[in-house]
Amino acid sequence: MGLKEQIGMDLLFKDMRHAEVARRHKVSREYVRQVANNLGIERWVPPPKALKPRKIRLRLTIEERFLKYVHKTWNCWFWIGNQFRPSPRGSTYGYFNPRRGYSIGAHRAAYELWRGPIPRGVLVRHTCDIGTCVNPDHLILGTDMDNYKDAISKGVLVFGNGRKIFSLDERTK
Ligand SMILES: [Zn+2]
Repeated sequence: MGLKEQIGMDLLFKDMRHAEVARRHKVSREYVRQVANNLGIERWVPPPKALKPRKIRLRLTIEERFLKYVHKTWNCWFWIGNQFRPSPRGSTYGYFNPRRGYSIGAHRAAYELWRGPIPRGVLVRHTCDIGTCVNPDHLILGTDMDNYKDAISKGVLVFGNGRKIFSLDERTK
């Protein structure tokens, strides 16, 4: 995973501020801002004033807005909004903009909406292994180390060049 993808991961999945990410990777805040823009993580274009309705304003709650991008099945809830893939062989994740100029992993947003606050620096993991799933019942809190162990046990841990180093389960080949 390249530096840009790592920066993207930190912004979306660890909910880190630009300044924190800049310090962590020893780059400038401007660089972090550019990477975020390039990845489309923070994109908000102000609507033309003429199009703004004067009196009637339909304001959805964050929950309602979130659910507009969700396709629910009996099992997983699939995120059909913006998506982000940190590495070529890795999973795809959704992301959501709860407010202007701010993006967060869609599964993190789902956790916060229906389960509760996520402590700083803690990851939200999927029990169903589907990165774009936002069903709160499929989400648990975890650490980098949990993810790492999980990847090993499922035989899906890959090096940066895409080569699998563990392949314990034939189905993951
Ligand atoms: Zn799921």
